[in-house]
Amino acid sequence: MSRDLLTLADQQALLREREADHFHDECGIFGVHGHPEAANITYLGLYALQHRGQESCGIVSSTGREQFVHRAMGLVADVFGEKTLEKLPGRHAIGHVRYSTAGGSHLRNAQPFYATTDGGPVAIAHNGNLVNANTIRRELEGRGAIFSTTADSEVIVQLLARSREQTLEERLIDSLSRVKGAFSLVVLTRDALIAARDPHGFRPLSLGRLDGAWVAASETCALDLIGAEHERDLDPGEVVVIRRGRLRTLRPFTPAPKENFCIFEYIYFARPDSNLNGQNVYSYRKELGRMLAREHPVAADLVVPVLDSGNTAALGFAEESGIPYEQAMIRNHYVRRTFIEPAQSIRHFGVKVKHNAVRGLLQGKRVILVDDSIVRGTTLIKLVSMLRQAGAREVHARISSPPTIGPCYYGIDTPTREELIANQHSVDGIREIIGADTIGYLSLEGLHNVSKSLKHGYCDACFSDNYPIPVSREGPPPQLSLFREIEEGGS
Ligand code: 5GP
Ligand code: SF4
Ligand code: MG
Repeated sequence: MSRDLLTLADQQALLREREADHFHDECGIFGVHGHPEAANITYLGLYALQHRGQESCGIVSSTGREQFVHRAMGLVADVFGEKTLEKLPGRHAIGHVRYSTAGGSHLRNAQPFYATTDGGPVAIAHNGNLVNANTIRRELEGRGAIFSTTADSEVIVQLLARSREQTLEERLIDSLSRVKGAFSLVVLTRDALIAARDPHGFRPLSLGRLDGAWVAASETCALDLIGAEHERDLDPGEVVVIRRGRLRTLRPFTPAPKENFCIFEYIYFARPDSNLNGQNVYSYRKELGRMLAREHPVAADLVVPVLDSGNTAALGFAEESGIPYEQAMIRNHYVRRTFIEPAQSIRHFGVKVKHNAVRGLLQGKRVILVDDSIVRGTTLIKLVSMLRQAGAREVHARISSPPTIGPCYYGIDTPTREELIANQHSVDGIREIIGADTIGYLSLEGLHNVSKSLKHGYCDACFSDNYPIPVSREGPPPQLSLFREIEEGGS
C-alpha cells in the first residue's frame, strides 16, 4: 500500500508507533509509606536522585482520604519549597524526576501520572521504557481511550483503569503483564505503596526502612540522605505491596530467561556512592579503569578525568598504570549536564562553559584523557582541543566502556543509531574526529571480565547489539503534530 492511501488515522498511528519507539526516558523514582513527613522525605529522596533526570519532577501524597499532587518543569530544589511541601500532607507519597528527548519535553509528560478509577485513586511513577507502548496505545485508542500525554508510561495507567480485575493490585498486575520492556515503578493508592520491577530487571529499585516507615528508591544514595536503612533490592519480576505498615511480596510474572540489569547504570548512570545489587558503583568503575589501563597502556605524564563522569575510572587507570592522576580540567558544577540540553547548538556551548583546562599542569605534557563513554563525540572533540590549546603535547583518549554502537530502548536516553559516533565510524575514525593521538575503548571482553563480580545477568545491548527484548530498528521519528502546551511562568 502506498503512503498516500493511508487514512489519517493510519498515518497518526504510524507516527505514534515510530515516536513511541524513540522514547528514552531517564528517570528516578521514590516512594514512602507510613511517615508523618512523607512529602518532605520524598523531596529529599528526589533531591538525591536528581542526576537521574533534570527536566521535570513531581510528588503525589495521600492522607488515606485525599490525594495531593504537584508536578513542574525544573529541578527538585527549584520546584519544591516549604510552602509547596506543606500543601502535600499525608503519611504516604511517591515522587519522580525525569528527563526525556523527542516530543517529551512538556509538563504534561511530568510524572507521577494519576487517575481516578472506580477502584479508587492511583498514582504511578515509572522508570524505564516500554517497547510495546505504541501497539497498546493504538489498541486502546481504537476502543475510545483518550490519552493526555505522549509518554509510554501512560499506557500502564490506562490499562489499569480499564482492567476487569477486582482490586487495584490485581489491576496493576494485569496491566503490567501486558506491557513489554523496562519498568521499575512505585504506585500510590489511597492507603498502599506498591513497588514493582519488570521480569528482566532492567532498572534498579531498592527498599529501605526509616523510623518504622517503608521507603523505595531507585538508588541507595537516596536512602543514605534520609538516614534510612537499606533493607534489600527488589528482585526482577517482584511486586511488593505495603499496606498498614506490612509488606507482602508477589511474583506474578513469568520469569525472564535471564536477568538483564542495565550495565550502563554501573558504568555511568548511577551515582558512585550507590550500591546496585549489593555492588558498590564506585569500586566497579574503578575496576573498569584498571582493566582499561591493562588493555590500552600508553606512556604518558598525567591521567586526567573528564569530570565527573570519567573520574572514578581515571583513578583506577592511574592506580593500575602508576601514572599520576591530576584534575587538569576543572568542571563548573553550576552548569547543567551537557547532555541535558535539547538543542545541538546549546550543547556545543555547554561543553565550553562546563570545563576549563588548568594550563600550568598541562604545558608540554602527555595526557591520558579518561571518560566513561562517547555518545555523539561532542564532549571529547571540545576537550581534546582544549587540552592541546592549554599546551598538552599528546592527548590519548581512553574510554571505560566499549563503543556505544546502538541506542537504548529500555530507559537510558541515547540518540538514534545514526547519531552515535561509534555506529558510524571505526575506532580509528573516531580518534581522527576527536583529534586524539591514540584512542582506546574497553573491550566487550574486558567489560565482561570486570562484571564477573556481579551476581546477576545484565544487559549490554548498546555495546554488543544483543538486545534482550526485540526492538524495531527504524530511523528517527518524524515530528509529531501535537497541541503544544504553553507553560505558565516558564523561563
Ligand atoms: P557526547 O559528548 O559524546 O555526545 O556524550 C558523551 C558524554 O555524555 C560523556 O561524558 C558521558 O559521560 C555522557 N553520557 C553518556 N551517556 C549518557 C546518557 O545516557 N545520558 C546522559 N545524560 N549523559 C550521558
Ligand atoms: Fe543499559 Fe545499554 Fe541495555 Fe540500555 S541497551 S539497558 S543502556 S545496557
Ligand atoms: Mg518512560
